[in-house]
Amino acid sequence: MGQHVETLVIGAGPAGLSAAYVLAKAGRSVAVLEMDPDQVGGASRTITHGGFRIDLSGEAYESASPRVLDLWSELLPDGFVEHPRVSRIYHHDRFYAYPLKPLETLAHLGARRSAACLASFGLAKIRPIKAPRTFGDEARNRFGARLSSILFTPFAEKVSGLGCDDMPVGWGGTARPTASFRYPLEGAGAVWEACAARIVALGGKIRLGRRVESLRFDAIGQQWTVGVRRSDGVAEQHTAEHIVSTAPLRDLIAALSPAPASLIHAGELMYRDQVTVALVGRTRKLLRETAIAVHDADLKVGRVQNFRAWSPGMGPGGDLSCLGLEYFCFEGDGLWAAGDEDLIALARREAAAMGLMDDGAIQDARVVRQRKVLPIEDEACAEHLAVIRLDLKARFPTLHLAGRNGLHRNGERDHAPLSGLLTAENILAGDAAHDVWSASSVPEPGRFAA
Ligand SMILES: Cc1cc2nc3c(=O)[nH]c(=O)nc-3n(C[C@H](O)[C@H](O)[C@H](O)COP(=O)(O)OP(=O)(O)OC[C@H]3O[C@@H](n4cnc5c(N)ncnc54)[C@H](O)[C@@H]3O)c2cc1C
Repeated sequence: MGQHVETLVIGAGPAGLSAAYVLAKAGRSVAVLEMDPDQVGGASRTITHGGFRIDLSGEAYESASPRVLDLWSELLPDGFVEHPRVSRIYHHDRFYAYPLKPLETLAHLGARRSAACLASFGLAKIRPIKAPRTFGDEARNRFGARLSSILFTPFAEKVSGLGCDDMPVGWGGTARPTASFRYPLEGAGAVWEACAARIVALGGKIRLGRRVESLRFDAIGQQWTVGVRRSDGVAEQHTAEHIVSTAPLRDLIAALSPAPASLIHAGELMYRDQVTVALVGRTRKLLRETAIAVHDADLKVGRVQNFRAWSPGMGPGGDLSCLGLEYFCFEGDGLWAAGDEDLIALARREAAAMGLMDDGAIQDARVVRQRKVLPIEDEACAEHLAVIRLDLKARFPTLHLAGRNGLHRNGERDHAPLSGLLTAENILAGDAAHDVWSASSVPEPGRFAA
């Protein structure tokens, strides 16, 4: 089957849908190909289970970019709730407010550790690392070596799979947590389902169950031929003048022909994967926290999401809660390969150990595996990206990259939709006025998010 559109978008996550929406609104012909057979939203989709809604990563829908805020409001005019933010850090049987409260922190740490933390904090202020090169340097400058090793770097290391001195400065984004936050009433996926519906209403196409396997560029005719495998196994071919790719950069480059010179660099890009175990039951006490970052090395869980605290629309009323225990891992490692029964047993033990939900109070569980939730940004990565960027720009002028894995950038939550909006504006204007690689809505550094 051959189908032609002006712009073909790979991936129906926030970046791809944002780009397609802008193009469809401008009356351009656009189609989105998504390999998931059932849902749009990508890593921001919402999974329903027994009346509860599970988001793979609860994050506030905040942005310093008016255009992203306008997009979200346009898509879901009455679909957001606003709450005060309550997030905590768990470390050795204690819950710390995040952002930290100095007196509470010192009380929880105890006299000896507090004294050591204060001494190393003082030292960091008198003699900071002059040119911080890594996330570890940055955290030590800000909190002192002792406190950062207790309350900041262990979480970042669990999430990223890297040592804190292998993570770049500004790891995990630069936005400071706000005192209150907005969240879609029925979960993150509702925003992107609304976006997909608008695209279709404007004449754009959304095709689920289509995995893009090959992209051939004809430099003379300036046209793309895209090979697609449907989830029923049937092959399709599409043609387009522009490609917007939000697929992982490593996969995209491997699918391109003629093969780019930077293929070898793309092969070095790495990703982190995630298993979420959702537990439905009665919590030991009322939990107001939306998310708890777990800093103990002896617990495997990295973060616990409390979905109904994000929004009452995330579950039925009543006294049952749904907690999402997030395990960060690499595809194929012990956690990823463990069976569902073993993962549920692990999550039950760890929820009980943290005093969140006792084993006997759990009524239901669900395991969700999500590949490539985080692009890994180590020091070598910046060099690989610089080569890839130059190579693609020179060889494939109508290939536009957007989104988290598309640009291999672990930025703020609004980065994916912002990069999609800017990419679409570049296509509409017929130039590359927006530098999507460095686009950010947040100018100042300094976020150590829980
Ligand atoms: C653990 C975790 C932490 C998070 N932390 C942050 C954060 O700090 N900052 C942040 O911005 N967001 C964060 N998020 C939210 C979220 O991942 C992203 O912001 C958002 O979903 C990225 O949007 P995207 O469109 O770039 O990519 P995705 O949501 O990954 O969407 C890409 C889509 O492309 C599809 N696709 C890939 N390859 C192909 C192919 N070959 N053919 C067809 N379709 C394909 C995928 O199936 C997917 O639907 C986090 C999510 C998780 C799970």
